[in-house]
Amino acid sequence: MTTAIIGAGIGGLATALALRKAGVTAVVYEQASAVGEVGAGLSLTPNAVKALDWLGVGERIRALADEPPQMLTCHYASGETLVAFDRSDTVQRYGAPYLQMHRADLHRVLLDEWLKQSPDGLHTDRRLIALEANDSADATPRLVFEDATAHRHAVDATAVIAADGLKSLVRTQVFGATAPRFGGFVAWRGLVPLAALADVPLSAGSKVFAGPGRLFVRYPVRRGGLMNYVAFARVDEWQPEGWSQTGTVAEAAALLQGFHPEVHAILAATPEGRCHKWGLFAREPLPQWTRGRVALLGDAAHPMMPWFGQGAASALEDAVVLGRCVIASTTETHAQSLPTQLITAFRRYELTRHARVTLIHHESAAGGERLAGMQPERLRDQPVRNEDSLGLFSYDPVSEALA
Ligand SMILES: Cc1cc2nc3c(=O)[nH]c(=O)nc-3n(C[C@H](O)[C@H](O)[C@H](O)COP(=O)(O)OP(=O)(O)OC[C@H]3O[C@@H](n4cnc5c(N)ncnc54)[C@H](O)[C@@H]3O)c2cc1C
Repeated sequence: MTTAIIGAGIGGLATALALRKAGVTAVVYEQASAVGEVGAGLSLTPNAVKALDWLGVGERIRALADEPPQMLTCHYASGETLVAFDRSDTVQRYGAPYLQMHRADLHRVLLDEWLKQSPDGLHTDRRLIALEANDSADATPRLVFEDATAHRHAVDATAVIAADGLKSLVRTQVFGATAPRFGGFVAWRGLVPLAALADVPLSAGSKVFAGPGRLFVRYPVRRGGLMNYVAFARVDEWQPEGWSQTGTVAEAAALLQGFHPEVHAILAATPEGRCHKWGLFAREPLPQWTRGRVALLGDAAHPMMPWFGQGAASALEDAVVLGRCVIASTTETHAQSLPTQLITAFRRYELTRHARVTLIHHESAAGGERLAGMQPERLRDQPVRNEDSLGLFSYDPVSEALA
């Protein structure tokens, strides 16, 4: 029996590497039959880069990512700069750079490293449909998977780490999570080849165009090869949740009427089929992420609003802290069985991580509301609390004291 990790996303693969560092064998089960190039850009704030360094992939990530020298917040219509963050001294201030990259590149690096270390460590086309015998610490968890032909596979595991994302089955089944609530915003995400924007004057780094109820965020990824954007708009009607809903540029452009010409030039250059729509859903933080031999991690444990760009960062922090808790528990309690050691490690992981992630969860939701709710001019005189001013970047999952 091995430890089962559900989900080969960022959190699941990072956890697999962390467990390996702790000397614990794990197998990752993923519902998709192949790992494709999905998603668009994401931010890796310094706290996340420290986690990637501990996992042994920091240098490869730096080679693929973009490092914004500055981040500007501008008036949505005039383009006037309201707030400028200089990022040139980020390494000196926080001990690691602020990076932005294509999610697929981050995912590929983690996957390649995992398969290099554990060639048989990934089972694709395995959708978890049930988790049995999870109600007592003594019981061996039994996982039931279904493949694309509807064939079922039962697997017993030493322990289970559920990194199965936003719509986690394990969160619902074991922790009885309540239904998500539509958060009132829809986002369009797109990637535009930079060559298609040759005539658009673009400042370096990342830029947010802030307007009441609407925001447009853009930054380069793929070492300046692609411009990644996300356009947020407050809407009344429900929108589907998920990363792969198809959207249209026309819808986004209509909701961003009155925005600066740079915004419309980027939207207009979006290649066919490269604009995705995504309804933002809010969920209450769970009081508990672990029970006996089962632990939740990443979006499965704490799906949060995206305003602070801490979704991937929090999953990476979780993985490192969990790995360190396993190292601590297996070295401190030699005589105990592995399941008992893992149960102890899971409890310490939850105690170490819960307060920070719950703070990010609440602040991120409130921060987005503040940003989209105010007249943009106020940002100049009264900058809002954000992930930087809250001190989130100083956190180091490698040295954080374990509970
Ligand atoms: C397709 C996709 C595209 C994304 N694009 C972006 C983006 O462009 N920008 C951004 O900031 N964030 C994006 N995200 C979200 C971001 O990756 C996460 O918020 C963050 O990295 C936390 O990762 P996670 O591993 O907890 O969850 P996820 O990255 O969501 O990974 C969860 C994994 O679990 C698998 N899974 C789910 N249910 C089951 C099941 N029952 N059985 C087996 N496997 C299961 C999923 O297929 C997925 O691979 C995307 C996520 C996905 C899945």
